[in-house]
Amino acid sequence: MLGPVILAASRSDRMRRLVTAAPVTRQVVDRFIAGETVDDVVPIVRDLTAKGLELTLDVVGEDITTPEQATAARDAYLLLIDRLGALGLGERAEVSVKLSMFGQALPDGHDIAHRNVRRVVEAADAIGTTVTLDAEDHTTLDSMFAIHEDLRRDFPKTGCVIQAYLFRTEADARRLAASGSRVRLVKGAYKEPAEVAYQDKREIDKAYVRILRVLMDGDCYPMVGSHDPRLISIAQELAHRAQRKPDEYEFQMLYGIRGEEHLRLAAEGHRMRVYTAYGTDWYGYFMRRLAEKPANLRFFVRSTLTK
Ligand code: FAD
Repeated sequence: MLGPVILAASRSDRMRRLVTAAPVTRQVVDRFIAGETVDDVVPIVRDLTAKGLELTLDVVGEDITTPEQATAARDAYLLLIDRLGALGLGERAEVSVKLSMFGQALPDGHDIAHRNVRRVVEAADAIGTTVTLDAEDHTTLDSMFAIHEDLRRDFPKTGCVIQAYLFRTEADARRLAASGSRVRLVKGAYKEPAEVAYQDKREIDKAYVRILRVLMDGDCYPMVGSHDPRLISIAQELAHRAQRKPDEYEFQMLYGIRGEEHLRLAAEGHRMRVYTAYGTDWYGYFMRRLAEKPANLRFFVRSTLTK
């Protein structure tokens, strides 16, 4: 029951001010956020790749309100890609972007976000890596899918994310499965109304399996984004039945969550990619991680109160 309350708070400016000013927040945040700058994250990229893992890097931020912020977000990604290229890490580390950070909600936002993300996709392509468009709340998805389709004409490896909790997603999955795209399937992390999304965890899990089967049986490249042990073993079984080779799908998990499982899957010969977020605008990302597991909130409150 706490999850929806925390998700509502994730969009509140008042809560943002309270949480980001809390004395020990940084210590709790560090579990999920790999640092503030490119310099902080580079050693982590080196460490994880040395352990046989791959990464998708996210410069945290979303829901910006001015074109200047959108340009700054784009430039932060260009700086990251430039550094990955200089260090020769492009083959092991791709990037994930949120279009709301690139200006999607501004007037003419679709075009602004499209222009900004295209620059990032071009730069990524130049160093031999790829970009995945994260899925945000349901009102943003038609625009995200249109941008994804357009980018794929020039950069076919551009990926996108679909969310099992949305009723629309099975249809989106069928379209993407036929298109040869890279597709990350996740359960979904936003607060969505009952008109558009399953609210019951079991219904979401069932939808996840149905959609995963569509992706595994299709022509696309499935990226299984989940920490759920049951879904991971179902994914392995579906990949096996679809006769997919180890380089024809991958698992993805978030930095700071079930790290031992990242290593176990990689050691078993699976492609395992760690979604690694860094940056200073971590509030929305952090609150979604709290909402996913109430124990995280208890830890956060306890460490704040005992300070
Ligand atoms: P759950 O049933 O929530 O969790 C299974 C188990 O994993 C839990 O029992 C717990 O042990 C562990 N776990 C899960 N979350 C946490 C946590 N926060 N802290 C501690 N332990 C935890 N959502 C979007 O809406 N859009 C996106 O673009 C998006 N991208 C993602 C990218 C990746 C690589 C991943 C892994 C997730 C992404 N998500 C995204 C988040 C996703 O929608 C879920 O909210 C999140 O993954 C939790 O669901 P789960 O499948 O891990 O299953």
